[in-house]
Amino acid sequence: MFPEISTKKLLPGLACLMLATGCSNNNDSNDGGSNANKSADDYLVDLAHPTKGIGARVAGTESERKAEAYLLAELKSLGYAPSAQAFTYKDRDNNEFNSSNVIFEKAGSNADKVLVLGAHYDTAGEDLGSTGATDNGTGVSTLLDVAKRIKDKTLPYTLRFVFFGAEEKGLHGSNYYVSQLSVDDLSKIVGMVNYDTVAGGDYLYVHSADSATPYECSGDNSSYAAGDTVRKGMLNASIALDGDNDFLIHPSVDGGYQAGETGDWSDHVAFACRGIPIAYVEATNFDIDGKYGKDGYSQTVNPQFWTCFDEATVGACDKDAEVKWGEIWHTGSDRIDAMESAFPGRVSSQMEQAVKATVEFVSFADYYLP
Ligand SMILES: [Zn+2]
Repeated sequence: MFPEISTKKLLPGLACLMLATGCSNNNDSNDGGSNANKSADDYLVDLAHPTKGIGARVAGTESERKAEAYLLAELKSLGYAPSAQAFTYKDRDNNEFNSSNVIFEKAGSNADKVLVLGAHYDTAGEDLGSTGATDNGTGVSTLLDVAKRIKDKTLPYTLRFVFFGAEEKGLHGSNYYVSQLSVDDLSKIVGMVNYDTVAGGDYLYVHSADSATPYECSGDNSSYAAGDTVRKGMLNASIALDGDNDFLIHPSVDGGYQAGETGDWSDHVAFACRGIPIAYVEATNFDIDGKYGKDGYSQTVNPQFWTCFDEATVGACDKDAEVKWGEIWHTGSDRIDAMESAFPGRVSSQMEQAVKATVEFVSFADYYLP
């Protein structure tokens, strides 16, 4: 439908600017020394392991509150000052539930430019055995590791981390967060990066919002913007690392999304709806012809995730008979042990890839963003 757009722009020869690393270690907190050595892998065990950690973290339940308390404690021990932003939401039957966003900042040299990094910490599919390892233990663990690695750096822009509650019940945390922003707050946010399922799927992509069809935006999409500046910045940061760390841009799909663009099923939506350019980091496989076409919902060609996978068509042998569709999210395979057995080392290396690109991006945000 649309001509293919090449979005993979190489950086000019310059790789990194010289920048002094932080000397501003002004916290003397001694309340969690053990956390200084945790990696994304360790955080993932804390969050998603059914016995060593919390396990499933279902929105509106005690397990989600447990995860909230865990995040607050971990962040305090890293020397940050996190806060919980409580909110309520209702289900279709008008039952009310409590949830919460966990928010903290790392001040940058420029307080008037704020980058939001977000990931939801609730999970779904617990009835099938999911403990929300990839969706979205990986996004949360990636951001915790980023927070740890940048805590003593001097950054150009202020970073605001937001761990969203109740994403799986209808993007409630991110909608609430954005609804509480003042006009002044909003004017300072230069971009948002959403980390949802950043490991598990076959490839690691970075997307921007749909430029052809605006998201619905609760009925008012007059402020919607599909700017791709943050996506390009994240992509270029991944390329600048000069290794096997490049994010992919998915190709344009006939009758579907333009190259590098994605739909309205995660926490980036509320931000795009307020005119903020977003990027969305996601591990999946856009080559697969899934249930509804090439939309990234099918995450892997590994035959064990299919009733019957047809290599020739990169899809189901029989669309009517297919049940599994290459999906990991919300299934009994979304567990640390199941992922490790299907894809040894993959979850760890994809999280590391996302962490490294993010640290590069936020360290030189004034270079990567116009
Ligand atoms: Zn998710």
